[in-house]
Amino acid sequence: MSSPKPLRVVIVGAGFCGLTAAIECKLRGMHPILVEAYPGPSSHGDLLDFVRNAGRVFDSWADGKVGRRLASVAVNKAKVLGFYNADNEHLRDDPWPQATDFQYVYAGHRGELHEIVYDYAKEIGVELQFSKRVEQYLDTDGERGVVVRGGERILGDVVLACDGPRSLARSQLLGLPESSVSSGYSIFRAFFTIDDKMRENPDVQELLASNEDIVRCWVGRDMHGFIYTWRNGRDCAWVLTHKDDTDIAESWSEKAKRSDVIHYLNKQALPRVWHTFVNITPEDRIIDYKLVWRDPLATWLSPSKKAVVMGDAAHSHLPTSAQGACQAVEDGVAVAMCLQKAQGDIALATQVFERIRFNRSHIIHQASISTREIYHQHEWTPALIKQHPNSLVLPFYPWITEYNVFEDVEANFNKLAADVKNGKKGNIQELALPAGGDYEEMYFKNGVSK
Ligand SMILES: Cc1cc2nc3c(=O)[nH]c(=O)nc-3n(C[C@H](O)[C@H](O)[C@H](O)COP(=O)(O)OP(=O)(O)OC[C@H]3O[C@@H](n4cnc5c(N)ncnc54)[C@H](O)[C@@H]3O)c2cc1C
Repeated sequence: MSSPKPLRVVIVGAGFCGLTAAIECKLRGMHPILVEAYPGPSSHGDLLDFVRNAGRVFDSWADGKVGRRLASVAVNKAKVLGFYNADNEHLRDDPWPQATDFQYVYAGHRGELHEIVYDYAKEIGVELQFSKRVEQYLDTDGERGVVVRGGERILGDVVLACDGPRSLARSQLLGLPESSVSSGYSIFRAFFTIDDKMRENPDVQELLASNEDIVRCWVGRDMHGFIYTWRNGRDCAWVLTHKDDTDIAESWSEKAKRSDVIHYLNKQALPRVWHTFVNITPEDRIIDYKLVWRDPLATWLSPSKKAVVMGDAAHSHLPTSAQGACQAVEDGVAVAMCLQKAQGDIALATQVFERIRFNRSHIIHQASISTREIYHQHEWTPALIKQHPNSLVLPFYPWITEYNVFEDVEANFNKLAADVKNGKKGNIQELALPAGGDYEEMYFKNGVSK
């Protein structure tokens, strides 16, 4: 008897969500087809963080080879994350969560990390259909898949729409109007190489070390920013979240003027070191990325339940969650495991997937606003830090970072599948697994920023 044909999984978008889903489906014997508008791995972007909940996924591939490759380009030689206020007063040092002492943590240039994961997908034979922009999603029993520009149809048994924050799938598969609202903030971002001339500046030298990476965060009214230097002081990235007064476009290639950044530095009186780094940055390396808020969706599943919206398309995190890419990776693993376990019952797989992922990603998504407010709404001083030692932190709680998506799916698939089959009633929050934790520790106990 011939073995059943592998499930054809049409995946749209080769960001970290789509790549992870494709790799995990391939490793489980399915036939993923990854459709992406870009021609190859994208070099856009600057610094992206992966902590243990996602890093353990990369490390599970090719006996740790992918993890080792990621570690070789990562910002992992920093010892501490230093916090400062707008007067450049030192507030606190925390252990740098992506340091080499910790396993499975990879912060680095997004383009470099992306290329390593993309290469692995290619190595294991994921079918890559790049330079193909999806214009239409198909979700009928006759035709399930996508139509790309030019009219080609790419069909399969199930569709995973990992098409990012400006998702077309949200409207075409879920019937939702675009619901983005400006978060009121945007973020200047830059990545460049520090040359010998730049190195002569004493402010730059202070943030360089030959055997260490440096990561510092400054918090001021309505503004916070990080400066990173790594790879023996060769690479530099900085990000500066600021009020968005000009309604820019939502794009990873929206160029910014240096004078605009300086305007905000002056407005919030950020210290001289910021002026120095902004002034040495080649102007064409500065972008302004609009931070858009999208409310959580009521469901991630199309009416047929054979097409799913996932990753940033379903829960587009603001950077202050520090978990957008990690949650996208968790989605990618969970959906592949559910498809494998459901043995061809796709609607069962997607419903269980949604119940495993919904509350966890929802709570983490929502927290990106409260975290930003805690950073921005206080005059941070060493005295205030003493009073509220748990508030000015990167919110990497054990329930977030020690989470193991492989174990969670193993532990809960059968119970949730039984709930689906028995028609258990409730809304998605009630039917889904609990998030596993909250951000209470960060909140000021005298009633701020909830
Ligand atoms: C170019 C780029 C640069 C980024 N840089 C940073 C950064 O520096 N720091 C940071 O923290 N985060 C960055 N991000 C965001 C971060 O990677 C994501 O928030 C996170 O990894 C979630 O990933 P995702 O796969 O859900 O979505 P995304 O990473 O947004 O991936 C979605 C993918 O879908 C593709 N796509 C969208 N529509 C279509 C279509 N109709 N047809 C075919 N393909 C389509 C997009 O080209 C993209 O590759 C960047 C994202 C992108 C796309």
